[in-house]
Amino acid sequence: MKIMAFEVRADEEEYLDALAKEHGIEIIRSSAVPGPDNADLTEGCEGVSFLGQGLIDRALLEQYHRNGVRFLSTRTIGYNHIDLAAAEELGIKVCNANYAPNGVADFTVMMILMCLRNYKQAFWRGYVNDFSLQGLMGRNMNSLTVGVMGTGRIGRQVLKNLSGFGCRMIAYDVYQNEEAAAIAEYVSMEELFAQSDIITLHMPLIPETFHIIGHKEIAAMKDGVILVNCARGELIDTKALVEGIETEKIGALGMDTAEGEEGIIHRDRRTDIIANRDWFYLHQFRNVIMTQHMAFYTAEAIESMVKCGIEGILSMKETGTCPTMLKA
Ligand code: NAD
Repeated sequence: MKIMAFEVRADEEEYLDALAKEHGIEIIRSSAVPGPDNADLTEGCEGVSFLGQGLIDRALLEQYHRNGVRFLSTRTIGYNHIDLAAAEELGIKVCNANYAPNGVADFTVMMILMCLRNYKQAFWRGYVNDFSLQGLMGRNMNSLTVGVMGTGRIGRQVLKNLSGFGCRMIAYDVYQNEEAAAIAEYVSMEELFAQSDIITLHMPLIPETFHIIGHKEIAAMKDGVILVNCARGELIDTKALVEGIETEKIGALGMDTAEGEEGIIHRDRRTDIIANRDWFYLHQFRNVIMTQHMAFYTAEAIESMVKCGIEGILSMKETGTCPTMLKA
């Protein structure tokens, strides 16, 4: 079997090599984002795999289908870049990837602690041999309340990770689950805003969660609240964040994801002019930590994403399905 893999990063190569050897298949690779211009690369391939930067729309799917492609995999958890209905009509089976929630949950706890202990400022000072303490006083976790919004796989793992810190843990979700209820107290969203010293977001980006945190919600939070977003930038209205930081309503902000991050993250843009005012305005504050959407980025997660991408295609061909097969 021949599989065309797009958007291949150097760190995926060793896992692709191992899978090609193990299953006796050919995996052609390109770092390019899939699109109409490079669709001819899929000629003679039964499977195509990619990450999340391309738009896999009906026209592209028709091109792939004409080239003989019958199976697709996205080596990401998100799949909103694929027209699943069109794929189904064309008889193309599609799967996504999964990986353990631990990497993102660990990163979230790191963000919480870095915010709480003013680490960005301390780190900056170290570069100029400024070892003063002024302005760096933090708080003990066990004297604080942490509010977790979204208690799915990652939110629950964050709660488990935080269990050892002795903080009070409260949670909000539209669907409550027993595992989270055993270690945290479910409250309403209003109660979570009113009671939390630290709020961390773990909901998906869907129409109902777009800008779920705006001016009104930030106003309802405690003064000096620490806000951490390792989920999706669009969950929070960036203008409200700017106001919250400027007015010092928000004590610290940890963001692994930001609105308008596409085209900025995961690239070296050092010599470019980047037009995203709010992103860069927020970036310069001493109490705002921004990372390049890297919470997922662990060796374990990458291995799992590549494995799901290749073995998903093989399983869909051999058995008609796979554990991560998607339905329109
Ligand atoms: P999940 O589907 O297991 O959990 C999502 C939870 O959010 C569910 O419990 C769901 O009921 C809840 N939810 C849905 N709508 C809600 C609402 N309106 N209010 C409150 N809760 C709501 O997903 P997960 O695996 O835990 O991932 C959570 C999110 O983390 C993903 O959707 C993704 O955007 C983000 N993520 C980020 C990274 C990264 O590298 N920064 C990596 C992976 C995932």
